[in-house]
Order: sequence, then C-alpha cells, then structure tokens
Amino acid sequence: MIKKIIFATGNKDKMREIREILADMDVQVVSMKEAGIQADIVENGSTFEENAIIKAKTICEMTGEITLADDSGLEIDYLNKEPGIYSARYMGEDTSYHIKNANLIKRLEGVPDEKRTARFVCAVAAAFPDGRVETVRGTMEGRIGYEEKGENGFGYDPIFYLPEYGCTSAQLPREEKNRISHRGKALRAIKEELR
Ligand code: IMP
Repeated sequence: MIKKIIFATGNKDKMREIREILADMDVQVVSMKEAGIQADIVENGSTFEENAIIKAKTICEMTGEITLADDSGLEIDYLNKEPGIYSARYMGEDTSYHIKNANLIKRLEGVPDEKRTARFVCAVAAAFPDGRVETVRGTMEGRIGYEEKGENGFGYDPIFYLPEYGCTSAQLPREEKNRISHRGKALRAIKEELR
C-alpha cells in the first residue's frame, strides 16, 4: 500500500484540490515545500503530458518517492488551440488575467457562438521510483464568452462559458467545478492508477 505521495506543485489551490480528491485513500500527500525540495524545473515539453512527466520525474528522482505533477491550460479552437501549453505564460507570466482575458475576447471579435469552442485540458503524470510513468488527461468543454463573468475560480475561468450550465466556470461553486473540471477528472483518473 502506498503511504506517501509528493505532488509537484507550489500552487496552494492545486494542493487543496488533490488532497480533497485523494482524501479517501490512506496516503499522505505532501507538497514540494513540505518535502523540503526546491527545484526550478524547465517545462520545455511540447504537450501537456510531456510537461507533467518532466515535473513528476524530476521530483521523483530527487526524492525517491512516488510523485504526481499536473500541467494544464486552455485550448481555443478558432486560435489553433492557443494559448495551450503556454496558458500561464501567455502575454507574460506577470500580466493580469483581466488583460489576458480581454485580449482573447478581442481576438474573437465577430466570431459566432458555434466557432468559439474551447476546452480546459489537464494532464497528470505519476512517476514511480522504479522508473515507471503513467499519464492521464481530463478535459472540460465550453465556449469563449463575450465578457468576463464570475468571481470564483482563477485564470481564464471568467471567459469560459459552459452552455449546459448557462454560466462561466467562474460562476460555479468550487465543489461543482471540481466535479466537472479537467483537473478533477484527471486527478480522479490518476487515483485509479495508484490503487
Ligand atoms: P500550469 O498548469 O500551472 O502550468 O498553468 C496552467 C494555466 O492554465 C493557468 O495558469 C491558467 O492560466 C490556465 N488554467 C488551467 N486550468 C484552469 C482553470 O481551471 N481555470 C482557469 N484557468 C486555468
């Protein structure tokens, strides 16, 4: 039985989410900080999966512990899947999401509803001390809206409209978003791999 897992992220929201999702497993999930590791990992992969693997493998090799890592982003079909793996770096890491979101809406000016399709993608990789690596992917389909709406969530959530819900992912309560989100789906899938 697995006792300890490292989740290779410095992001508190992601840590909370993974702890909630793995709560029914008898494992201790520790952050990089809690494991006492500091690493500046270069995410130079060309897919979400490659980037997740780079992070998980690096930390697993440093610690000898089973390590999970995720990589996620927004794909807008009309923009040839931009910003994609560059979602965090789009227009610069320090540019506010208010500006990034306004820019994406502007780039879709005049584009009709049916061509505004987009999805959030999350790949999660698990790296094991014996060198084995597993990856899973979760997605959430939606459309790019015409203005920012909602205060929950983060990043591109205020412009990510969910037609079935009639609101953006920033207007969903946190538990509801976890239930349907790319990251929630991928984390639940990797949990099956760990069993
Ligand atoms: P990373 O996975 O930490 O490399 O960053 C992914 C980036 O994609 C985030 O910084 C956001 O810009 C975007 N992103 C990923 N998931 C979400 C989400 O659930 N809502 C809004 N933006 C997201």
